[in-house]
Amino acid sequence: MYQAIDFGLWGSWNYQEYICSDWWRARSAEYKQKAGNRCEVPDCVIFGKVECHHKNYLRLGRELDSDLICVCRKHHEEMRGK
Ligand SMILES: [Zn+2]
Repeated sequence: MYQAIDFGLWGSWNYQEYICSDWWRARSAEYKQKAGNRCEVPDCVIFGKVECHHKNYLRLGRELDSDLICVCRKHHEEMRGK
């Protein structure tokens, strides 16, 4: 279901560094705002305390909105498989 991460485009970057980058912070903040700061899992009502999750890693650094999902901590952990 989840795509393997291809860092070919990334040179020396790795995912941890990327997630800590200012760019990702800004991108995820922008997406969360678009999503209304709500968990997007159907029937979940968590608002505010949400995180941005990559649905796939195909476009790291140039994600489309459709590559991202806004989720609460609980659902984020489920999606990561803990
Ligand atoms: Zn949720």
